[in-house]
Amino acid sequence: MAQSPLIELAHGDGGGLTRELIAAVFARHFANPILGRQEDAAICPLPGGRVAVTTDSFIVDPIFFPGGDIGKLAVCGTVNDLAVMGARPLYLTAGFIIEEGFSVELLEKIAASMACAAAAAGVHIVAADTKVAEKGAVDQLFINTTGIGLIEGSLCLGADQVRPGDRVIVSGPVGNHGLVILASRMGLDLNGGLVSDCACLWPVISAVISDFPVKFMRDATRGGLATVLKELAVSSGLDVVVREESIPVCREVIELSQMLGVEPYYLANEGRFIAVVPEAAAPGLVERLHQFELGRGAAVIGTLHEGSGRVLLHTRFGGTRVLDFLRGQHIPRIC
Ligand code: MG
Repeated sequence: MAQSPLIELAHGDGGGLTRELIAAVFARHFANPILGRQEDAAICPLPGGRVAVTTDSFIVDPIFFPGGDIGKLAVCGTVNDLAVMGARPLYLTAGFIIEEGFSVELLEKIAASMACAAAAAGVHIVAADTKVAEKGAVDQLFINTTGIGLIEGSLCLGADQVRPGDRVIVSGPVGNHGLVILASRMGLDLNGGLVSDCACLWPVISAVISDFPVKFMRDATRGGLATVLKELAVSSGLDVVVREESIPVCREVIELSQMLGVEPYYLANEGRFIAVVPEAAAPGLVERLHQFELGRGAAVIGTLHEGSGRVLLHTRFGGTRVLDFLRGQHIPRIC
């Protein structure tokens, strides 16, 4: 069997090999008229509205994991940060930092995965960069993506919008992504049962913001659900009171978390969001979320109260725990 070609340092020198790699891998998978011009900057039309911009770097280890890969993650992660601000994702840029000796075949698989995720999000990859670092200087592949989105109408989301009595909703079971990465790295066999929640949230969020008076949204990535709730509490100055029995967590996640000594509420997610709505809108929003594959496990998990920026968890056993920012459960290279 012929050995698939490997990335050489010359693939990053900006010369002939760079051009060949771009044509064979990136331009082929990301093809669109804006990228196709191959100028020094992409010229992107923007219809009327406010522009949202976000950037994120992806260094996840391993680069392929159950339910996704670094490419899918690099698209979904950035698209989701636009989506939770109520911005329609329009354009992405992608920067690739590749280790010398990396397989071109794997790079192509990752590019195809990015193209697939971008299509699902309705976003075009309009600019990209390729750098190659000598062996050992990076671990396989790092990707940076920048996203540009558009907020249409007067939508204004933020912690300053929430009031006592508002309800806190989570869009689905939490902890899967973080646990899948941790388990993969430890070589645990998940028997195909547990996969990352890595997914693009824009289709479900666009339906939600057009029909419900959402005040605040955030995707629960690094630091997990607990971190987003604490950020909400601190920024609003209110207490977030959550009932543990209403927080959706898969049975496999609970069992494996106990085994590994980690807490699902602090594990990273890559396809889950938290939303705050007035009490009257909460049941309808949850019902609507249940119509989407990605919102199937959605639930009202808590209420905002006058307070001092705390997150109070009423446990299954009748006690109350204070949830603070993540400390001591740091899992590196989770995204
Ligand atoms: Mg975010």
